[in-house]
Amino acid sequence: MIVDKNKEDFLKQSLEKLKGIGLIRAQTLAKELGLKTVEDLLWYFPYKHIDRSKILPVGSLKNENGYVQVRGQFYDFREVYSLNNKSRLEAIFFDNTGSVKIVWFSNYKWVLNKYRIGETYYLFGRISRFGDEAYIAHPEISTEEQFKHLPILGKFQPLYGTTERMKKQGMDSRFIMRIIQQLISMLPEQMEEVLPFHILKRLKLPSFPDAFKWVHFPESVEQYERAIKRFKFQEALAIQLRNEISLRERKKQPSSVVIHKAGKLFHLFYRYHLPFTLTRAQERVIKEIFTDLKSGFRMNRLLQGDVGSGKTIVALLVALIVIGNGWQVAMMVPTEILAQQHYERIKSLLELLPVNVSLLTSSTPKKERKLLLEGLKEGQIDFIVGTHALIEDVVNFKKLGLVIIDEQHRFGVVQRAKLQLKTTYSPHVLVMTATPIPRTLAMTLYGDLDLSVIDELPPGRKPIQTMHFTESFRYRAWDLMKREVLSGHQAYVVYPLIEENEKLDLIALEEGFEAIKREFSRFAIVVDMLHGRMKQKDKDTIMNQFREGKIHILVSTTVIEVGVDVSNATMMIIEHAERFGLAQLHQLRGRIGRGGEKSYCLLITPDQVGSEAMERIQVFLSTMDGFKIAEEDLKMRGMGEIEGTRQSGQHTFRFIEPIGDEKILFFAQRMAKFILQKDPMLETPSYVCLKELINRSFQGMYFSDIA
Ligand code: ADP
Ligand code: MG
Repeated sequence: MIVDKNKEDFLKQSLEKLKGIGLIRAQTLAKELGLKTVEDLLWYFPYKHIDRSKILPVGSLKNENGYVQVRGQFYDFREVYSLNNKSRLEAIFFDNTGSVKIVWFSNYKWVLNKYRIGETYYLFGRISRFGDEAYIAHPEISTEEQFKHLPILGKFQPLYGTTERMKKQGMDSRFIMRIIQQLISMLPEQMEEVLPFHILKRLKLPSFPDAFKWVHFPESVEQYERAIKRFKFQEALAIQLRNEISLRERKKQPSSVVIHKAGKLFHLFYRYHLPFTLTRAQERVIKEIFTDLKSGFRMNRLLQGDVGSGKTIVALLVALIVIGNGWQVAMMVPTEILAQQHYERIKSLLELLPVNVSLLTSSTPKKERKLLLEGLKEGQIDFIVGTHALIEDVVNFKKLGLVIIDEQHRFGVVQRAKLQLKTTYSPHVLVMTATPIPRTLAMTLYGDLDLSVIDELPPGRKPIQTMHFTESFRYRAWDLMKREVLSGHQAYVVYPLIEENEKLDLIALEEGFEAIKREFSRFAIVVDMLHGRMKQKDKDTIMNQFREGKIHILVSTTVIEVGVDVSNATMMIIEHAERFGLAQLHQLRGRIGRGGEKSYCLLITPDQVGSEAMERIQVFLSTMDGFKIAEEDLKMRGMGEIEGTRQSGQHTFRFIEPIGDEKILFFAQRMAKFILQKDPMLETPSYVCLKELINRSFQGMYFSDIA
């Protein structure tokens, strides 16, 4: 690629060099919005546009919201003093349909000097309300002459997000607009294209400079939409190219962990020890995984299945195949409680088989740990279950053949990568997640993974009755809980725990615990408490007692969210349900309804709940379908907010809406395949620019081999 020094320099220039910005403002832009270079600013898109060609009758303003534009005259400027002796300036602005109050709260001397009664002006500003009265504060005012030459290309004015601090330094939306306008006028020669010309032409998409121009200063709605479409397509293509390339790279890596047959161990267990009949979905998924293991290439598969769909037994059967062929298996889970539980379950299922199962967590005693590490290194341990402790540097395996990662949305990509580095060869990787991710999203987020889905629940599950109570009706929820527990079942009461106000949350938890104890212990109901800050030993004791039915009501934070399995628990009360995301609520609810008995999930919220939270709760009450919930969640919150995707450091979308842009995603995938088939290394003149696209989109992190 020919690199023109000047071109590069222009975009990479720091903002302080721009006229009107300077050092202080540049620092503020960097701090507040993360904008450092000219290019950053170009990518800072307006959050909306105002149609400046529309002029409203003043008389209609009382029914308007947001930004408005009117044409008329002032009469009567007057200074008004409030009780604390602060002054403001008020004026009445009118046309022949009505009038509206205009207010300046400070620095208004210039207004009095500049504007006259009886002259015609255009006002542009946001409607505010004081009681019933609508007014506009600090409007932008233009004379007829100025209005004709407003510095807006076309008729739409972009509005940019700003912060208080920026405004204090004179950087409001209008300021940003002017700077960007200046940049855009310099663009056409400065921008190199990252999409092949013939593709742009075929899809009728604008060039890079045009797309920027149209996104910031569209002359029509259609122009804006075409620009956005270009950015969406560009994003989709970058992601799909990346996925195709890493998929291709992986399929070229032969695995030294070759498995030819399912093996004796598997058959033994399958025939004599399987505690139930597998569902068809489980059978299918095991076959898919087995096919990977036999393929001679490294498996990298995502196993998706709603909570309770039975992923553990799948993992176990697959592990037996690998162990039966002489390899070790490591299973990594996100919490100690879960590690413990998996370990015990697996151990008891494998009791009669010659498999050496062990548990390694950060609270494994030193002596035992040393033995464990040796056992792994020497190969005496076949199957190790553990937490992060598993990826610590001292852990070495003799023949690690398969890594199973459960509930992967809790883990970062880095950790995943690190675990794979434990060996000089590449073990197979099976990632299991209970977060139901819509297919389009899975395809893009995890596009370099193969996907298996367990889309069927084991038979005999009774639906969970989900109800919402406000604080004033808490006693009803408690009555229900009493009834359930007195009839021999167990219950969870879950409190939110947010790291930022962990202290407050823990206090709320303890208070809730005390209240429940007061209310329930007189019925000889045993109540106990569990949270992440407790010592591991105490946590284990409590969890065990709960599992054994010695504790009837377990009051806890979300530590029980993941994977805990006590089938006698038929009741869950979720406190402050308004503070939970949909996906998390769904995970929590998945902890109950595991036996054949009817279960209840009761949400408790304050009497007053915000409308967004209420909407979430409505969705949650209306369905048990994890995929539906995930889709609604996506629609409501957008990609960036989806639990897990952010923490995991996965690339999330900037322009694409996973629900709604499926067509673009699929199209981009087809195109990526097609392009890479024709030009595998992206070296021909028409496609070389795509290398740059990938590089820029992912900062060259993903494949040094071709970029
Ligand atoms: P998850 O997919 O959430 O990890 P689990 O593996 O914990 O689900 O399984 C949930 C429960 O369903 C467990 O108690 C398990 O024993 C049971 N289970 C799994 N598969 C079946 C099946 N095919 N038939 C009956 N019960 C099953
Ligand atoms: Mg599980």
